[in-house]
Amino acid sequence: QAKARGRNNVQLFQPEMLDAVQERSRITAELRTAVTGGELALVYQPVVELASGRVIGVEALIRWHHPVRGTIMPGSFIGIAEETGLIFELGRWVLHEGLAQMRRWSQTDPDLTDFCLHINLSAAELLRTDLLEDIRDTLANYGLDPRRLILEITETVLMSRETVQEQVLSGLRELGVGLQIDDFGTGYSSISYLRSLPADTVKVDQSLIKDMESDPRQQKFVSAILQLIFAAGLNATVEGIETAEQAAQLEAMGCLYGQGYFYGYPGPATEIPDQLRRPARRL
Ligand code: C2E
Ligand code: MG
Ligand code: MG
Ligand code: MG
Repeated sequence: QAKARGRNNVQLFQPEMLDAVQERSRITAELRTAVTGGELALVYQPVVELASGRVIGVEALIRWHHPVRGTIMPGSFIGIAEETGLIFELGRWVLHEGLAQMRRWSQTDPDLTDFCLHINLSAAELLRTDLLEDIRDTLANYGLDPRRLILEITETVLMSRETVQEQVLSGLRELGVGLQIDDFGTGYSSISYLRSLPADTVKVDQSLIKDMESDPRQQKFVSAILQLIFAAGLNATVEGIETAEQAAQLEAMGCLYGQGYFYGYPGPATEIPDQLRRPARRL
């Protein structure tokens, strides 16, 4: 940032910078105890089939219920968890809690087995040597079909794959676990990679549909991106759908699946069985 203000412009260390550093180390220390101390929770947001409003999946999203500061959103601590390596423990917790919840849902209502669980995975987690084994064992322990788990990974990760990650990804695919490219359209040069990515589905980032309703050029742009995804033989889900208008436009573009406040907010696990039984809003 100092550089952006010009080469000859000397930046003095500001008190706010120290605050920021202190804040980060405090969060790091507190996050360490949060993982083991039961302060983390998952909320679940439905993924729907646009035509029917049927819930076909739920995405697990992490929340940190801090004893003093209240609920902290992932945007404020996932980055720190990644930098400090706490993401491994955090990710392990998310995976186990999410799959345990899948098991609980199927015990409450044995008919409710026709949906997938989406879990967000950080890049670093693909470097976990025991990831594949952990996922395989946990699925087996809970008697869950691997095809009911979908891992959401951002495109940047999938583009800069290293051999280790490559092996983990192909192992996961062999197992039957689904891979979804998350936040599609926010990275760079993803287009040329689209066909070679080891994924089955793409989740188009919410920023792309933000001004779509009122901007015909943006509509054409989104439509072209969807065509690109289809041409690569992949399925598309669009996230961040907030209005009926957006849903209708996306459906007209051939998009089959969507997610967003229009269909349902991220909420507690107890709300999911009802949402699975009756269709979410439909057009
Ligand atoms: P994401 O995976 O792209 O998730 C979508 C985010 O958009 C979520 O924010 C969700 O609450 C929000 N959202 C859903 N529908 C709408 C809508 O209609 N409008 C708007 N404006 N927003 C909507 P959240 O829960 O704050 O999560 C932010 C990001 O944090 C996620 O983005 C994901 O990258 C990361 N994250 C969340 N949980 C986990 C986790 O368990 N592990 C890892 N590694 N990352 C996670
Ligand atoms: Mg996601
Ligand atoms: Mg994401
Ligand atoms: Mg996103």
